[in-house]
Amino acid sequence: MNLYVYESDSSAVIVDYGIKFADPQICGIDWIAPDTAYLESIRHKLKAVLFTHGHEDHIGGVLRMLSLLSLPIYTGRFTAELIKHKTRNEKSFPQITVIKDGEKLTFEDINVCFFPVSHSIPDTSGIILEHNGFTAVHLSDFLNISDMKMALSGNGVNLLLLDSTNAVSRKEPHTEDEVQRELVKIFSETRGKVFLTTFASNVIRLNSVVIAAKATGRKIVIEGAAMERTVSIAARLGYIYISENDLIPAKTAFNEEPSSVVYLVSGCQGELSSALHSIVKGERKAINISEGDTLIFSSRVIPGNEINISAIINSTARLGAEIVQFPDRPVHISGHASVRELKRVITDISPEYFVPIHGEYRHLAAHAGLAAEAGISGERCLSLETGDQIIFEDGKPAEKRIIDSGRAYIDKRGDFVLNETELYERKRIARDGLVLIKTTDGKLSLRTYGFKLTPEQEAMVLSYAADSDKTQGCFDEELVLKAVKRFFKKTFNRRPLVELL
Ligand SMILES: [Zn+2]
Ligand SMILES: [Zn+2]
Repeated sequence: MNLYVYESDSSAVIVDYGIKFADPQICGIDWIAPDTAYLESIRHKLKAVLFTHGHEDHIGGVLRMLSLLSLPIYTGRFTAELIKHKTRNEKSFPQITVIKDGEKLTFEDINVCFFPVSHSIPDTSGIILEHNGFTAVHLSDFLNISDMKMALSGNGVNLLLLDSTNAVSRKEPHTEDEVQRELVKIFSETRGKVFLTTFASNVIRLNSVVIAAKATGRKIVIEGAAMERTVSIAARLGYIYISENDLIPAKTAFNEEPSSVVYLVSGCQGELSSALHSIVKGERKAINISEGDTLIFSSRVIPGNEINISAIINSTARLGAEIVQFPDRPVHISGHASVRELKRVITDISPEYFVPIHGEYRHLAAHAGLAAEAGISGERCLSLETGDQIIFEDGKPAEKRIIDSGRAYIDKRGDFVLNETELYERKRIARDGLVLIKTTDGKLSLRTYGFKLTPEQEAMVLSYAADSDKTQGCFDEELVLKAVKRFFKKTFNRRPLVELL
């Protein structure tokens, strides 16, 4: 759910506008997006949204941004294509400008320059923002930077914001070449069909799968809307070399020799709506997993998805297929910089101030430790959490404020956007049930949902509530509500949602 704002007295630009995938257990919520209260309060200053790259945690909120703020978009070529696809059904086209590496832009008193970095998706950029001689380098997701000169352009850097994703792990990762070689090995070892799942946005990996399939004489079946979309955009822009000849429809593949097919399927996090989930559950007529087949998870487990992934693995094992996972075999590498690369970047850029970004608290803390090892310690390392605003005056951090930064919870079915109170209500109902109270003609009645009371318990609740207030033969509804809530808490230690009918 990445979103950063760089703001001067008169103007402001946003860097990234992402979403977070909600924990599948959170009561029907699919996505979490940043709240826009603060952005709306500085709407008159906002000039643009700059997107670093096309992952959902950076661009997922673009439709929400367009409907609420309708700002022009500046980004790299591949990200622009993904955004165009997302906005294809909108009434008005967003204003998208494709930026070339090294191209300079000016938004009133804020100067901006994009520079190339490598990541698991093409056209990923770092961004240099300059205002009145103060230079900030925003380096979110990246694996490494080949052209540091372009990044720095000779100027000193006052502030560096840097990707903390891998700051906790000291182990040097494998390379994508090693992943490719391992895939070739597994593809040729497997006597049956190969099923491979990965993040649909990992274009670099999709390309490795295509290369491994060609090397081992397997045709590719693509299953999953997101996977099909990425492959088609990436092939059109020349990031994946795949021809019609390399692909085969699922129906045709069904009658082919199993050892001549690889299925590239979405669902590496065990998502219930994914292609992999429905294949494993036997819901696809033309695709089945059986003995002799191999399922490769060319991905990592995102915390929170363990239960769903484990269910897929169990079902696959029951069907008699082999399962290959990272890190048992090198079938995945992270798209984020290793500790060694992070230290190199901090040392080379040598900023006056440093802010670790992109990670949970433990990643940010570990990254601050790395920065100290690279010579940036004490008050030069600024730790910021969501909603923190740091104000620089004369190049020095002068003040830290906390701004309004809630979350919007999105339920995709119907596109409902829930606030904290509504989410709290859902959680209360899910955990403790719902109680509806009716007052008619001086009489109280109630109905419970999600649990049952015995007739005696129900009588107890009603008499407790009736005793709470009965001054003029009709009930003060507020007092009755309070009394019922109190009763449930005191007697059963539960807090159902209690409402009047
Ligand atoms: Zn990210
Ligand atoms: Zn990313």
